[in-house]
Amino acid sequence: MTGLSSSYGLDRMRLLVTGGAGYIGSVCAARLVEAGHEVVVLDDLSTGHRDAVPDGCRFIQRSVEDAATVLAEGFDGVLHFAARSLVGESVTHPQRYWLGNVVASLRLLEAMREHGTPRLVFSSTAATYGEPESVPIIEEAATRPTNPYGATKLAIDHAISSYALAHGIAAVSLRYFNVAGAYGQYGERHLVETHLIPLILQVALGHRDEIMVFGDDWPTADGTCIRDYIHVLDLADAHERALAHAVPGQHRIYNLGNGTGFSVLQVLDTCRQVTGHPIPARATARRPGDPAVLIASSDRARSELGWKQERCDLAMIIADAWQFARRYPR
Ligand code: UDP
Repeated sequence: MTGLSSSYGLDRMRLLVTGGAGYIGSVCAARLVEAGHEVVVLDDLSTGHRDAVPDGCRFIQRSVEDAATVLAEGFDGVLHFAARSLVGESVTHPQRYWLGNVVASLRLLEAMREHGTPRLVFSSTAATYGEPESVPIIEEAATRPTNPYGATKLAIDHAISSYALAHGIAAVSLRYFNVAGAYGQYGERHLVETHLIPLILQVALGHRDEIMVFGDDWPTADGTCIRDYIHVLDLADAHERALAHAVPGQHRIYNLGNGTGFSVLQVLDTCRQVTGHPIPARATARRPGDPAVLIASSDRARSELGWKQERCDLAMIIADAWQFARRYPR
């Protein structure tokens, strides 16, 4: 580590960001560069975009499986975002998830062990919990994933725990709920879009005729599913704090959400207000595997990491996503 002091009392670190050409990875990489860190992005561009790699990062177009050659250069930490993350695809093509998520992450852990890389922050997910018994979901909740995506992320979490304990790695897993919003030129642009807010905004842009509401007969106040939408910048802030608070030999897990649930209809209405577009919607069948309500308890992140959300307001989150969607309409 060199002397330049950055945010959260962290010295300047040399960090490897896997998946730094993707949505959350690019936002986090941009913030880490702004905080004064040296950032190397490792991304095979299977789903990411070369022009999403933030200025100031060195870019290596390779798979996570090749992390060993990169880590041999000596790094202070890894932020591991690279993953496949489509629930439906994980059901139809589980091999892509067990190989692409689990095997690749095991190779990364092995490379960290081999080269003595001391810190890891991992992108875990609310999908590790599955159908919750109660909300808000705390970190002690049972982990019973209902699809291979969640199962593979949970398997990696287990592997990280044992590597941290045995090899002294300071590890943190951040379990994201529904990430939304954008940071200037960095935002969500998936080739195959499945997420609610970007899909609704595609209707407002005229790229889709209407939005399908997956079920209006759920046991919720308006009959649609409730999710916890967190601004990607608040999420990025949690990554910096996780790096600062990681403890050698420990694997800590934190849920990250807004703490407030919004129904699909509430999201839709807010998108209509933000865009000024009528956004036609039609109720269809429930999507298999969807729980009715997912809301995070982020109390542990607040008390242990000193994290707080600065951007809780749904209209503000959607306004940032809308600004980005208009900038990168396709
Ligand atoms: N959803 C919907 N129509 C869509 C996409 C999503 O009604 O075209 C619903 C989905 O059933 C869920 C919520 O919106 O209740 C959020 O879904 P998303 O895929 O964005 O995130 P998830 O909660 O599955 O991670």
